[in-house]
Amino acid sequence: MRQPLVAGNWKLNGSREMVDTLLSELTTALGDGVTAEVAVCPPFVYLQDASRALGGTDIVLGAQDVCAEDEGAFTGEVSAPMLRDVGCRYIIVGHSERRSLYHESDEWVARKFAAVLRSGLTPILCVGESLEERNAGVTEAVVARQLEAVVEQVGAEVMGDCVVAYEPVWAIGTGLTATPEQAQSVHAYLRSRLRAVGAAADQTRLLYGGSVKPDNAAQLFAMPDIDGGLIGGASLQAETFLAICRAA
Ligand code: PGA
Repeated sequence: MRQPLVAGNWKLNGSREMVDTLLSELTTALGDGVTAEVAVCPPFVYLQDASRALGGTDIVLGAQDVCAEDEGAFTGEVSAPMLRDVGCRYIIVGHSERRSLYHESDEWVARKFAAVLRSGLTPILCVGESLEERNAGVTEAVVARQLEAVVEQVGAEVMGDCVVAYEPVWAIGTGLTATPEQAQSVHAYLRSRLRAVGAAADQTRLLYGGSVKPDNAAQLFAMPDIDGGLIGGASLQAETFLAICRAA
């Protein structure tokens, strides 16, 4: 009942040439055994080109971040209405790289999440614990805090239509993947928290992210509460990304 979603997060990678070649490879091959919804999230400056390349195809567009404000004197920022204007459907908020490198607090991420909803787009909220937090046994407390900061801001009613990505920080770009059981356990916990606050938790798509590769994707996506993936490094090459999309 939840259509799986596989979203490629290009991070600070790409070029106009890559937009052309990668997206044409993906759109050409997509019909081939892929039933998941597929999204790509290139850097801001390439969204317009990507939007043209994806027009009329089944691949949808996402952005990697957004300003919490809709317009005004915020030099250097990009707003949710602008991202909607260029054809985005999804916006990632609270990626761990934004939280750690750019000091985005739970409250700040929640304001961005609200901005995405105001514009009519779908937020992909990233949550996840560091290795120290996992070792200290506070994984559930950390993801609950990150999730509840958002619910407090936007209310539980909207959460069924949103996407949450569990991305253990220790698994991002490290080649270390959470085992399917470790990931499932946190996903089930997130769904139970959503249910506890009164959200339509069975509708919320919960993605796993962190070193997803063609050889571990199928096992992760087979878990009952894992509804697809947020893919970094492996989304930069058509064959590997398509293999992951086929596994969902
Ligand atoms: P990775 O990144 O797949 O390269 O580990 C995932 C992410 O940060 O979204």
